[in-house]
Amino acid sequence: MSSTTEPTETTTEEESTNAEHESALETAKRQLHSAAAHIDIDPNVVERLEHPKKVHEVTVPIERDDGSVDVFTGYRAQHDSVRGPHKGGLRYHPEVTRDECVGLGMWMTWKCAVMDLPFGGAKGGIAVNPKELSEAESERLTRRFAEELRDAIGPNKDIPAPDMGTSPQTMAWLMDAYSMQEGETTPGVVTGKPPVVGGSKGRDEAPGRSVAIITREAAEYYDMPLSDTSVAIQGYGSVGANAARLLDEWGANVVAVSDVNGGIHDPNGLDTSSIPSHREEPEAVLKHPAPEQVTNEELLELDVDVLVPAAIGNVITAENADAVRADVVVEGANGPTTSTAGEMLEERGIPVVPDILANAGGVTVSYFEWLQDINRRAWSLERVNRELESEMVSAWETVRDRREEYDVSWRDAAYIVALERIAEAHETRGLWP
Ligand code: GLU
Repeated sequence: MSSTTEPTETTTEEESTNAEHESALETAKRQLHSAAAHIDIDPNVVERLEHPKKVHEVTVPIERDDGSVDVFTGYRAQHDSVRGPHKGGLRYHPEVTRDECVGLGMWMTWKCAVMDLPFGGAKGGIAVNPKELSEAESERLTRRFAEELRDAIGPNKDIPAPDMGTSPQTMAWLMDAYSMQEGETTPGVVTGKPPVVGGSKGRDEAPGRSVAIITREAAEYYDMPLSDTSVAIQGYGSVGANAARLLDEWGANVVAVSDVNGGIHDPNGLDTSSIPSHREEPEAVLKHPAPEQVTNEELLELDVDVLVPAAIGNVITAENADAVRADVVVEGANGPTTSTAGEMLEERGIPVVPDILANAGGVTVSYFEWLQDINRRAWSLERVNRELESEMVSAWETVRDRREEYDVSWRDAAYIVALERIAEAHETRGLWP
């Protein structure tokens, strides 16, 4: 994926390969082994976790608006379900592959476990460029994909959500197609739907809100009063803009933001509430008056307290890790820091708070949405935000304790928390048949 691709619905699952040419699957496996080395875990469980439970590959033909037919390939990789139904996004992107879905599905297993959600991991998608589809074609593609996956998904089996190139509307079509075929309205089959058809209030803002909460906790942990903390945020889509506005509201000094077109920098702080997000108004960031414009690369090297890469994967690499001047990095996107870059930063004493913790607000509010759908009862926005706050702080504290206990990086600590829970569930359930 090009480094200028702009995030779409959620920016939390943007990456596929990193600059050191490690695929999402290789990274996921390496991280599994790195965490497993610290804890007493049955090697047979580790071996099972290296493999997905099942990968569905389907053919998705659609009729184009001009009457011709095109055929696409879709996937749903279900990694692990020991703790509950599979959970994870569906992406429409030309580079979607089977292996990428498996790797990203593994990340969802760890993400759900670190948040202690009763879900396993999955990821899927269609290898298609969504920008080359009309609205009607996108709807036909989604409905046909839903039909092809009908036996694989379900509120107790596997619950998709939006990801790159898909939106709440995509989820509404998927839910409708599934429900019509099953003969009953089944809102719990997907999350990230519009609230009018069973979506949760606050779901859209949730990944950005969790990034803000974790940034606030990290600032406190490193004795940086939020009012004295400067923050640079790369990516001003849903995750970046929501995180920026909340941090601004809580008193932090957001000094730089950027979108795909470039960024703006004001050492005295930006009024983020007056800058429309990339989704609200695509050209808004660079149009906003600021003393200095910066490129996306320059933003990563600003002398700030906290750097939040919240756009796409693989932006902090072996090439620029030594130029990062922030004191702490909080990952808003998925996989923004390559493995080598992560090690380089840790060696320089710059902690990196990982994606599977920081941006997990999305899937956490997906869990709230699923509960609301099953119980046929909507929560208030205030309740969603209150419960998200409490889940995020509790996950932060658990990861922090493991980090101190094992003297490891934040990333390893988060993986240790996840793996302990998954391994214990596997050992308790046993291998059968
Ligand atoms: N794609 C989002 C994520 O990676 C949402 C997953 C979900 O809500 O199931 O966190």
